[in-house]
Amino acid sequence: MGSISMKTWQEILDYVIRDGNHNPITIDQCLELYNNAPQPILSKVARDVRQLHNPGNYVTYLVDRNVNYTNICTINCHFCSFYRPPRHKDTYTQSNEQISARIRELEEIGGSRVLMQGGVNPDLPMSYYTDLIKYLRKHHPTIDLDCFSPIEIEGIAEVTGMPTSDVLKHLKNAGLHGLPGGGAEMLVDEVRLDISPKKGSADNWLKVMGEAQNHGLTTSATCVFGFGEEPIHRIEHMSRIRELQQSSMERNGIGFTSFISWPVQLENNAFGRRNRGANKLKLGAGPIEYLRHVSISRIFMNNIPHIQASWPTMGIDVSQIALESGADDIGSTMMEENVVSASGTTKVLASEAELQRAIMRTGFTPVKRDSDYNHLETTICEFEEMRTPVPIKP
Ligand code: SF4
Repeated sequence: MGSISMKTWQEILDYVIRDGNHNPITIDQCLELYNNAPQPILSKVARDVRQLHNPGNYVTYLVDRNVNYTNICTINCHFCSFYRPPRHKDTYTQSNEQISARIRELEEIGGSRVLMQGGVNPDLPMSYYTDLIKYLRKHHPTIDLDCFSPIEIEGIAEVTGMPTSDVLKHLKNAGLHGLPGGGAEMLVDEVRLDISPKKGSADNWLKVMGEAQNHGLTTSATCVFGFGEEPIHRIEHMSRIRELQQSSMERNGIGFTSFISWPVQLENNAFGRRNRGANKLKLGAGPIEYLRHVSISRIFMNNIPHIQASWPTMGIDVSQIALESGADDIGSTMMEENVVSASGTTKVLASEAELQRAIMRTGFTPVKRDSDYNHLETTICEFEEMRTPVPIKP
């Protein structure tokens, strides 16, 4: 595609549709779309591209639960309101039994996946993680365990002195199913090292994800934006993910299942406080900018199977529009959320009925899925509250 000269957004979008989104567009071409393509046209093309990758009039959702096993962290990301430093009075680390009790609640509502993340806790030995995974595997055999984002894997490697790939191997042998996609934020060091100086380079995140894919673990990719970066940074972030996807798929046919993006939340954290004032309006992102990012990601990342809408940060209404702008999945029930919500998001759980209703009101059929995007048997919940109220007689 790079050798074909296409300068205007119209030519680029025409090509994407003619080509069936088989070949990647270049970073320069993506920048032209980001800067100049009108959003309604971008949405329409992204919707068509979504149909090329995931044909059919359905949208998927996942019944899962988030669990945060510890809030102790030494990384101090400026945008994080969740963590507490070691020995802070509000720290916690959960036991196997406490986490198991949470997963029992997930089983009761027909869930299939737990997404477990915490901070980088220097006091936890390798055995904490392997014992926990084995315990959960034994007591909850039907629940997929997607646990420990790349920075946590790096933290465990540092404590144990093992390479990250060996840490992943031990966790996989204990019963780990996959890794959450968290911690990618912006995979451009110029931005990344400003907001999370101790988190390490973009290469680290990509390296751990590549190793997880080599071990056959399920992975997803994320993007947090709105740190004051330029569109070119957002495209470079997507480009790094697209490159890793290409090499992982060529190597062993296992890559990221999906991509999900959301704007940074600015309440209760050092990043929000330090940027109050003149440049405040440049931070975060409103619905239009978010939808643009969703559409662009669908078009640009032609080797990522699924694009997920983010209802916890944008609200159910905007996530419904995202389904018309390139996304084919509305995310998950979560049941509990302590990380993004600590930074100001107020809606942190959605029932299966709510997600189904959001999908149906957009004109799609809801399909329940598992962590690997396999379709599951879907029972449509009853929507008592949707019945039209009887008019009150005067
Ligand atoms: S975002 Fe994660 S790594 Fe960063 S401070 Fe919060 S818990 Fe720690």
